[in-house]
Amino acid sequence: MQHADLDLIIEGGWLIDGLGGPRRRADVGVKDERVAAIGDLQGERAARRIDASGKIVAPGFIDSHGHDDLMFVEKPGLPWKTSQGITSVVVGNCGVSGAPAPLPGNTAAALALLGETPLFADMHAYFDTLREQQPMINVAALVGHANLRLAAMRDPSATPTASEQDAMQRMLDDALSAGAVGFSTGLAYQPGGVAQQEELDGLARVAAAHGALHTSHIRNEGDHVEAAVDEVLSVGRNTGCATVLSHHKCMMPRNWGKSRATLANIDRARAEGIDVALDIYPYPGSSTILIPERADSIDDIRITWSVPHPECSGESLADIAARWGCGKEEAAQRLCPAGAIYFAMDEAEVQRIFQHECCMVGSDGLPNDAHPHPRLWGSFTRVLGRYVREAELLTLEAAIAKMTALPARVFGLAGRGQISVGAWADIVVFDADTVSDRATWDTPTLPSVGVEHVLVNGQQVYPETPGMTRPGKILRRQAAHNTPKEITPS
Ligand SMILES: [Zn+2]
Repeated sequence: MQHADLDLIIEGGWLIDGLGGPRRRADVGVKDERVAAIGDLQGERAARRIDASGKIVAPGFIDSHGHDDLMFVEKPGLPWKTSQGITSVVVGNCGVSGAPAPLPGNTAAALALLGETPLFADMHAYFDTLREQQPMINVAALVGHANLRLAAMRDPSATPTASEQDAMQRMLDDALSAGAVGFSTGLAYQPGGVAQQEELDGLARVAAAHGALHTSHIRNEGDHVEAAVDEVLSVGRNTGCATVLSHHKCMMPRNWGKSRATLANIDRARAEGIDVALDIYPYPGSSTILIPERADSIDDIRITWSVPHPECSGESLADIAARWGCGKEEAAQRLCPAGAIYFAMDEAEVQRIFQHECCMVGSDGLPNDAHPHPRLWGSFTRVLGRYVREAELLTLEAAIAKMTALPARVFGLAGRGQISVGAWADIVVFDADTVSDRATWDTPTLPSVGVEHVLVNGQQVYPETPGMTRPGKILRRQAAHNTPKEITPS
């Protein structure tokens, strides 16, 4: 049948539609931001054709865990996303987001992860600015719990009074009405770490009433990881709020293997009917602000940025301490405010967590860092190259489902994460034989290889085309029209 002239036909490729089923030979036709036709489109007319012979054509990847909130303003090209096939990102994670702004005098170290731009008064103002700036890729935003505390409490290091709790809940309600998809907690940081069950439950009830979710950087990812997982699951159990455990991991060799227990706990919660998912980035090192108290318990720490000592970016803390003739903790104190990479995970455990049926991929990339963790530029292509092609942990189809239809379902991003007629035309074309990350610990900002074309809402964003307008949209949470039938790892 004839489809009134299409804007674009991607022809000759192997279609992996995101829903977990086997690849098939099919052309994909795009018109007016959407997928308009799938099949043999040889006889169809189109303004443009992309030859995808021998390549994979898949839904654009959804980064379930980003910190790009302010980058849509500061560095709107977002090449670290588009060059690895990411077409949508969930921002506002780990308790920190672009809005609401703190009360005067209130601050938190973790906010420095986001960038230089002043935070926005509320999510309405944040989204208005994003719309004006035109996002390169689609963005769904969470509200940071630290922001709520800093905006609603005179003393954010305290337990909220009843009226402060009420104020936080009203702010959250307002942010969700503005289009935020949920809220995030960073219980390992201050001031989020002050929060106890009652406070978290109160906020989660507000989110649940909106059908929104709670994502958490849990209180502890080391010696107390099992209790920390349990805490967040109990918020979901108490309130019915859907829950995502962010960048799930077990740090320090003595805790390696504990994910067997944490994943079993997640499975029990899911069996009870709690909507739980998780994400990982595919590396054995983590990255966040530099925490001096960790300096002596983790052997290998590398500095990613430092305000007083920018010349130390990329160096190991041990080398810096040796040069300065002091202990590592003292060196860390002198470097702060600063960021760091901590090598304290077991790669085999990362891979085991990744294979869990409700585990997504979240880059957790920190684009504001001077010497960032390579996950910023390489998480998704690293999964395709190393976990799928080299290690054969799961099929390409199953891995793509974890990066597309699964996060679309979890975050309620209707019409995203799959290639089907009527879906938004977020599409990546890549070479399954060569796709790979190139970003390394030493050279962390190299773009991936093997990604050939990336489309957001039908428009090519990678490689960038001259004179293009940025095509991303702000995504609100909706029940998926087309729920993935089955997403199971091989
Ligand atoms: Zn985090």
